[in-house]
This record gives sequence, C-alpha cells and structure tokens, in this order.
Amino acid sequence: MLFQDQSGKTVGDGLGTCVYQQRRDPILVCPRCKRAVMSFIDIIDGKPFSIYRCKEHGDVVAIWSEVVNEY
Ligand SMILES: [Zn+2]
Repeated sequence: MLFQDQSGKTVGDGLGTCVYQQRRDPILVCPRCKRAVMSFIDIIDGKPFSIYRCKEHGDVVAIWSEVVNEY
C-alpha cells in the first residue's frame, strides 16, 4: 500500500523503501500533526494488522516522514 503526503510524493510502502533527495531515517508519524505515533499489532480475522495511534488524533494511518514534530 502506498501513501502520499500533501505534496503528492510517495512517502513509503510500509517497508521503508523511500526515495528522498536528502536521506535521513524516516519514522512513522501521524499524518495530521507529524508527531511520532505509537504502534500496536492487532489480530483481525487471524491476520496481524499494524495499528498506529496518535496522542492527539487517536487511530491514524501513519506515514513515513523525515519531518517529525517533537511537541
Ligand atoms: Zn496527530
């Protein structure tokens, strides 16, 4: 699955394959506030699913980002 950020570029496929001009270690962040999310693994229909939770926004679809807000 691919996610796109606001500028429309592909930011990752969940496996850490990202193309950036400036390489840093991207981490999973909330798409709304760009803060690091907490991740959980849940079992749904016998398959593990990754769930990401933002302190502010609850369950979100996390995106890979090099831009991370600390607060
Ligand atoms: Zn958030």
